[in-house]
Parts: sequence; C-alpha cells; structure tokens
Amino acid sequence: MDFQALKLDHALVRILAEHEILSPTEIQMESIRNFRQHPRSHLLGQAKTGSGKTLAFVLPVIEHLNPKIPYLQTLVIVPTRELCKQVASVFRLFESYKDLQIAEIYGGVSIKLQIEAIKKGAQVAVATPGRLIDLYHQREIDFRSVKVVVLDEADKMLNMGFLPDMRFLLMEAMQNITPRLLLYSATLSHDIKTFVHDFAHGDPILEMNVSTDNLTVDECEQSYYAIPGNKYWNFVRILRMENPEYAIIFTKTRIKAEELSRRLNQEKDIPFQVQYISGDLSQSEREKIVKTFRSREIICLIGTDVLARGLDFLQVTHVFNYDLPDNAEKYVHRIGRTARVSGGEKNVLSGKAISLVTASDRKKLQNIEDFTGIRLQLKPLPNSNTIYPSPLVSAKVSPKVSQKSENSQKPQKPRRPPASHRRKKKKPRK
Ligand code: ADP
Ligand code: MG
Repeated sequence: MDFQALKLDHALVRILAEHEILSPTEIQMESIRNFRQHPRSHLLGQAKTGSGKTLAFVLPVIEHLNPKIPYLQTLVIVPTRELCKQVASVFRLFESYKDLQIAEIYGGVSIKLQIEAIKKGAQVAVATPGRLIDLYHQREIDFRSVKVVVLDEADKMLNMGFLPDMRFLLMEAMQNITPRLLLYSATLSHDIKTFVHDFAHGDPILEMNVSTDNLTVDECEQSYYAIPGNKYWNFVRILRMENPEYAIIFTKTRIKAEELSRRLNQEKDIPFQVQYISGDLSQSEREKIVKTFRSREIICLIGTDVLARGLDFLQVTHVFNYDLPDNAEKYVHRIGRTARVSGGEKNVLSGKAISLVTASDRKKLQNIEDFTGIRLQLKPLPNSNTIYPSPLVSAKVSPKVSQKSENSQKPQKPRRPPASHRRKKKKPRK
C-alpha cells in the first residue's frame, strides 16, 4: 500500500517522497480514512511511539484546510515547547502546497510575534496549553472558526497536570460550532476516554487501536541490570561497556539529572561529554542544546521524562533508564526515543533500552513487563574484561580490583573502539 492508493493528492505524495516517506503506517491509513469517511466523528488514535502519529493527523488536516479562509481552522495542542516546534515543522513541509500559515504558540519567548502570526491569518496553530490560555484571555486568539482540535500525546497532557487547562480550552473551543476532536497517544487510558466523551457532544467517537498487542517497538532490545550496590559506579561501567553512539539518559528528577551529568563529566573513564537538559533552562538554552544534540556535537543527553515527550531524534542508539520511571506508560514513551520508523515501517532502526533496577524497583519492573507484555532481559553487570579500555584511561583501569569482585560473570565481546569524534580530549574542569 502506498500513499497514492489512499488517493492522496499527487503534490502531497511528491512532498512525502522527497522526505523518503513512501508508504503510510497503519495509524496513518486508519486516520486518513476515518477522517474522510466519518466527518461527524471524533477520532481517538493509539499507536506505538515512533509509528508516525504526527503525519496521521497532519495529512488529513492539510487535505481538509481551506487556504482561502484567513482564520484559524485547526488547533493542535501539545504538551511541550519542543514538540510544538517539531509538529509545526511537519505542517510546514506542506506550507507551499496550500499556501498555509502556521503559528507556533509556546511560552518562554516573546508573545508579540505569536500574536502577529495569528493576526496574519494563520490557519493552523500548534500550541502548548499555558501560552494558548494567555493569548485567549488577552483576546488575541479566538476559536470560533476552529473546525478541528488535535491533542497530540494526549495521555501525557492529562498526566502532566494539564487537565484543568485542557478542560478550559476545550470548553471554550467547543462552545460554538462543534469542532472535531482528534486525539493521539501511545497509550489510551480510561481517563482519556472519559475526557473525550465529556466533550464529544454526543457525536460518535471512533477508536483506532493499531498496536494493542505490543506497545513497545519490536526492534528495540530491552534489557536491565540488577544493581546490587552503588548505582552510580555501576552505571559508569555500563556506560563504558555499552559505549553508546547516540544516547539519552533518564533520571527521576531534575536535580538528579543535573548531578549525574556533572559527575559523569568529571569522570575520566567516560570518553564523551554529556549534556543536562530540563524545563528550568531558558528556552534559548534548551534550543541550543537540542540543536547540538541533533547535529551530534553532543551525543548524550540527560534529563527527566519531559525529554521523552514526542521529541523525535532519529537513530538514538541507547536509552538508559538510570532511574526507572514511576509508571509503565512513561517507560513506553522514554524508550520510544529509540528504534524509530525510517523509510517505511519495515525499516525500523534498531536501538537498545537499558534500565537500572535496584531492589526497590522490582515492582516497577513487574508493572512495566505486565504493561508492555515483554520480559526485559537481565544482563550481567560488566567487569573489567567486558569494558573496552578507552584510550584515555587504559592505564588507569585496574583489572585486579574489578575482577576480584565480579570474575564469575560471563565475559562479552569487547566493543569497537570509540568513534574518532568521541576521542577528543575533554577540557580540564576546575
Ligand atoms: P509518533 O508521533 O508516533 O511517535 P512521529 O510522528 O514522531 O511518531 O514519527 C516518527 C518518525 O517516523 C519521524 O521521523 C517521521 O518522519 C517518520 N515517519 C512517519 N511516517 C512515516 C512513514 N509513513 N514512512 C517512513 N517514515 C515515517
Ligand atoms: Mg508523536
């Protein structure tokens, strides 16, 4: 099945092909068909992370938009600024196709330009809840012409404490002509269903569940280490052994993320710099960090679950759960940063999700396994034979010390030498 068979306009198919998007994923097919065939229904789409949910709503919305009407027609609400920019950039691929204007609305930057973008007649607004509410209270945006409201990462938004904001926004948006609601999520909870039901005005709600059997991407190798003692020191060894090309590390709190990045950067045994990112950094700092990560100047980011929400970094080879997330849905979102679709669903890039499990994490691990239906593979902790001696530190590793305590473990193949860009000498730290 290709996009032409879905009777998508040739010009749209051409733009997609330029980005090597040739055949629709399952959620994209379902979503496009249902949007067209059931114009009075609200849609609730669940598909695993990395399965192309963005285009699942962008494509039917683009088809449907009228470029001649210089008013807001589609409102997309997303949980984070990064996702806002990312979703807007997907809409922008089709800007020329219909001569559309797309407004990005998120906090932490000047509101003036955003107001201008709306005044110029943007037909699409991609927004985070807080700034959108500000604009609404200032009467700089109104929802009367909105025909479609999309909630991307709906489960996260409701979990992140945005529920009152979402209720307010939908009450306002749904009071005149009733727009269609489109919700997309990697997991569909009971709360989401209730939420949609409350705003559906009695119109039918169509559920699209395309991957209930297996929520996590199959090509992602999921494993864990049982951590007996000091988590940090074990992690340094794991990190050295895994020798990741392009990685994200998740911690439970910002403070822990910051501390971990500081300690790792002082670690002589780690041959690359790690970068802390969080919501408390300024918008421009965050953008700078995301940019350096995308360009691979930095190959390892450390942050909390905020990092996991919808950010699409292609080809992340490793996701490390330094701390296990407190619920299984978060786990699915985190590990969705690896093994993402590229060039059609058949061609999923492989990746590893590695979790550190302490004695008190057992219950969480059980919940994750129950939720995903996958048993995470237990890996032996690395000993000095399994760690590739980095050129910087080979003289400092003391095999005797490490073998004494862990020589019962199965040795593994040494990893390839680190890539040259990671061999750079680290700047001395004070
Ligand atoms: P999700 O929202 O489901 O997590 P995204 O919409 O962020 O997934 O898409 C993940 C990646 O897959 C993006 O890089 C996107 O360009 C790519 N992609 C989406 N649809 C297709 C497709 N039909 N064929 C190939 N790649 C695709
Ligand atoms: Mg998404």
